[in-house]
Amino acid sequence: MKYDRVYNFSAGPSMLPVEVLESVRDNMLNYEGSGMSVMEMSHRSKVYEKIIGEAEANLRDLMGIPENYKVMFVQGGATLQFAMLPMNLMKNNVADYIVTGAWSNKAYAEAKKYGKINLIASSKDKNYSYIPDVSDLPISEDADYVYICENETIHGTTFRDLPNTKGKILVADQSSMFLSKPVNVADYGVIYGGVQKNVGPAGLSIVIMREDLITDQLPEYVPTYMSYKIHADNDSMYNTPNCWAIYVCGEVFKYLKKIGGLEEMNRRNEEKAKVLYDFLDASSMFNGTVEKQFRSLMNVPFVTESAELDAEVVAATKAAGFDNLKGHRSVGGLRASIYNAMPKEGVEALVDFLKDFEAKH
Ligand SMILES: *Cc1c(COP(=O)(O)O)cnc(C)c1O
Repeated sequence: MKYDRVYNFSAGPSMLPVEVLESVRDNMLNYEGSGMSVMEMSHRSKVYEKIIGEAEANLRDLMGIPENYKVMFVQGGATLQFAMLPMNLMKNNVADYIVTGAWSNKAYAEAKKYGKINLIASSKDKNYSYIPDVSDLPISEDADYVYICENETIHGTTFRDLPNTKGKILVADQSSMFLSKPVNVADYGVIYGGVQKNVGPAGLSIVIMREDLITDQLPEYVPTYMSYKIHADNDSMYNTPNCWAIYVCGEVFKYLKKIGGLEEMNRRNEEKAKVLYDFLDASSMFNGTVEKQFRSLMNVPFVTESAELDAEVVAATKAAGFDNLKGHRSVGGLRASIYNAMPKEGVEALVDFLKDFEAKH
């Protein structure tokens, strides 16, 4: 591969498009004639205002974000949002959580610090290898919101249909599927994600929130920084934002528009994931761990018959230039994260390698 890069199957931080990295490199020392790097410029400067303004406009365009939704660039990872969401959205102090894997479980545990949290569905009984039926759940009458992690990065599941929230607000962690396909923003009260899976460098979350949910009627204890109203009213500039990460995300948004937007991205992602899933379905050595209809297009966990053989495969792939394929300890085996920036050739090369490995064993 160009620049001696490896095919990096990391779950995050993960690959970025080479074209974006090249553009960032070319502008590193002197961003578009400003005489300085984006890392060195004031967030209040005209140049930077244009960077963040265009990033938001392009994101709105890509996702078709309606006028009555705010876009906020908030520092910290998605993990900070696990606390910030209940702090800001609770009015009755009640929320309903659907737990389908490690990330929704973490969000659920954190939310419990701030109110009465009901676990209304879970797929723990089969080690989170499927998505429960969410068409008719016992939604609490006084729930302030219903929470999901729409794509579970570790367990490799994804929602096919959104839950029927019976009129309650839906909040979705989309960290590991952000901008991988078109979504209908109006179906949600809040969509948020850490950007380091699919869109940019770590240390930034993008929060897309319906305006009427943003309030300053918050409990006394809520830190100023953790009020969405503060971020919304100040256009993500209440304090110094993560200027660099926002800039790189903005370059990724431009790139996605250039290739044809999220419809095209989704088409490529489906085509790419099919290569790997078709192989797993045909293989007698490697097996996917997720029920077919809930398989993620982004994170693909799979196992062999033993932990020893798993480890052997991981070592062999690494030696052959495929990096970060070791599965998370809670699932074991291997996991290939094949986000937007992973080229189809990367997945094809991996499948060729695994076929060969299987044939030799
Ligand atoms: C990675 C990840 C997180 C945590 O992100 P941080 O930026 O490390 O806090 C949360 N949710 C999902 C779905 C993730 O994939």
